[in-house]
Amino acid sequence: MLAIPYLAHDGHPLTLRFRCLEEHDHRAHFHGKYNSLKDDPPRMYGVDSVHQAGDTIDVTEGELDRIVLRKIGLFATGIPGAALWLPRHRRMLAGFPVVRVWGDPDEAGSDFTSKVCRALPRSARAMRLRVGDVTDTYLHGGAEALLDIAKEGQQ
Ligand SMILES: [Zn+2]
Repeated sequence: MLAIPYLAHDGHPLTLRFRCLEEHDHRAHFHGKYNSLKDDPPRMYGVDSVHQAGDTIDVTEGELDRIVLRKIGLFATGIPGAALWLPRHRRMLAGFPVVRVWGDPDEAGSDFTSKVCRALPRSARAMRLRVGDVTDTYLHGGAEALLDIAKEGQQ
């Protein structure tokens, strides 16, 4: 499995999550596609961006999409799914005038996006991903495709 370290804003490790890289039925192998340590509380991934961002912060659905946005220069945090969006995550983002939300273009993603937008009604903006999630969009159109969506969604 791919190990995904969760680091605090000062770089010290908080926890690990794991993503299975096999193309198989994960449940049949007694694990999920993503796996947390037992009893580990849900966390925001990439909290260093909360400390570094200016007026705008990006929120992705999942860790890997956050890695992509951070790689192209955006300050982003990731939430591993709608069910793991918590009131304290809202408080962590409440000070930003603009919160761009990058839910996947599917049912779970729209659930994620509407949950974050309802929690942050003045600042949250839903980004319009068309060809797939953040990672698919990057693979298809590069950084430019994502930056165009960010610019268009910011208005
Ligand atoms: Zn698996």
